[in-house]
Amino acid sequence: MSADLRSTDTELPAASQNGMTSGRPETRYPNSTQAVHAGERRYRAHDSLTVPIVQTAVYTFRDSQALVEYMEERMFWDEPLREEYGRYGNPTVRAVEAKLAELEGGQEAMLVSSGMAAVTSTLLLLMNSGDHLIMTDDCYHTTLAYCQKFLARYGIETTVVPCGDCQAIEAAIRPNTRVIFTESPTNPFMRCADLARLAEIGHRHQVKTVVDTTFATPMNLRALDYGIDLVVHSVTKYLAGHNDVMAGAVIGSHDLMTPLRQAHNMLGCIVDPHAAYLILRGLKTLALRVERQNANGLAVARFLAGHPKVRKVWYPGLDDHPDHEIARSTMRGFGGVVTFEIDGDGAMAHRFIDGLKIPTVGPSLGGVESLVSPIAVLGYNDLSPEECQALGIRDELVRLCLGIEDTQDLLDDLEQALDRL
Ligand SMILES: *Cc1c(COP(=O)(O)O)cnc(C)c1O
Repeated sequence: MSADLRSTDTELPAASQNGMTSGRPETRYPNSTQAVHAGERRYRAHDSLTVPIVQTAVYTFRDSQALVEYMEERMFWDEPLREEYGRYGNPTVRAVEAKLAELEGGQEAMLVSSGMAAVTSTLLLLMNSGDHLIMTDDCYHTTLAYCQKFLARYGIETTVVPCGDCQAIEAAIRPNTRVIFTESPTNPFMRCADLARLAEIGHRHQVKTVVDTTFATPMNLRALDYGIDLVVHSVTKYLAGHNDVMAGAVIGSHDLMTPLRQAHNMLGCIVDPHAAYLILRGLKTLALRVERQNANGLAVARFLAGHPKVRKVWYPGLDDHPDHEIARSTMRGFGGVVTFEIDGDGAMAHRFIDGLKIPTVGPSLGGVESLVSPIAVLGYNDLSPEECQALGIRDELVRLCLGIEDTQDLLDDLEQALDRL
């Protein structure tokens, strides 16, 4: 093993350049070639084409002198020269990290055991007791609960501001503010943040900006290109993509990732090598899957928007979405999540959901199988009716998370379920 544990010796063609609206930073979306090859060494152990699953907790040393040399060398290297112990690193896991770093255009990535582990460890590391955090509303419910209930116990205060309101974000900054955290697009209303502006506010006030771009993936949005400090993902969703494995990731600069990795070595939310292999395998088809999910999302959103039994649709690819302009100028595609209200009550929404033949009822998103859920029941049942109303979570709200099924089959299925209402 050598120092190129994480690096690739494959020269890949440059990512496709995409013309951006003038005045906005250039962004380079990764392509399918990168999804397949990025981060992987061209020649691997045992001449295996695929990255081997290195199923070990312990890495051994030839003799005590080799151990002495390793410990001495380690003091001078930020990156490991070889592996030592399973909690500190694994070659299969490192292959995923190298691929994710390349796809996001970051210097380093860290793979952790779930999306929540990515969120919780990142925020824990960036803040001390007495610090202040700004979160945008309309975000993953568990992330909000972590900030408002868990971090509060350690003297970290959270201010929640409306997503997309940069003025409100800047006005909420205090001398002890350390982090601005937002999702983009958000769950469930698909609000999209002006990342360039957010990054500029963060830099001006020396506040770190962290964005959860789980709903976009680097195929649709690369937040680091806009000057955002750290990107977090629920790898469970699109990145792994098959509804069969849980993981999370954090991507950013070497300077920010080094202390985060040191904390991770203590916190211990690691991914086992089998799960890492499934993620690596899933990532190879990311470009293809997201392309289809973008197409399914747009076709379904347009269909629903024109249907008399649907009251309102939230999809950033539609003209009437509040963030359509920002999404259009910063994203390549708008993803596979469509949120909408059935023109009726909660019971009618449930009847519609039960009439669908392709999507099954369940949480999560981003995998090859389409999933559907009545949002008020699934993510928000611990809130009072008043709290739900304040968040716009009505009983007739449906979240449809499209998989890679045939577009026309999905449209036909939606039509028959709506017709039967
Ligand atoms: C699912 C999700 C999470 C949490 O990820 P897990 O892998 O379920 O822990 C965080 N953020 C967003 C936007 C999500 O969709």
